[in-house]
Amino acid sequence: MFTPEIHFDKNHFLPLPKARKFSSIVKEAMKLQSAVYAATEYFWTGNDHYVIDDGYGKAALKLNINEEVISFWNYKTGTAVGDIGKEEWDKNPAASGRKIEECVGHVSNDEVLCLECGKWVKKWKHYSYAGSVCLKCFNPKKHQRPDTSGS
Ligand SMILES: [Zn+2]
Repeated sequence: MFTPEIHFDKNHFLPLPKARKFSSIVKEAMKLQSAVYAATEYFWTGNDHYVIDDGYGKAALKLNINEEVISFWNYKTGTAVGDIGKEEWDKNPAASGRKIEECVGHVSNDEVLCLECGKWVKKWKHYSYAGSVCLKCFNPKKHQRPDTSGS
């Protein structure tokens, strides 16, 4: 069994926010998902099979697309990067494009977002399900690994 992914080249995806309404991007994503489902008969359980590749063709950001918000994850580490809501996207599409481009650049450069101070760093710790924190912000009492002892 395999898990299909829909990859967008950075240069193909990034002009989108400037030209497209959020709702049309969601619609297009759903269409792609149905097409891949028809071709592979893979049962989709979520809308998180979209990936933006960096300029070198390496997967950088994983996208979870739904009607109200697109969330971004670091493809390499599985940690959260942020999200862009429908309102924010439609209010300033160019800024949304820049935000995505910056994230792709950082991930491509092996940097991870600290969810405490908002800095992109190379040295970090993984906490909770998808949390990442820089060494300066790391607090062992607060930033704990998920409890997997019972599973
Ligand atoms: Zn930090």
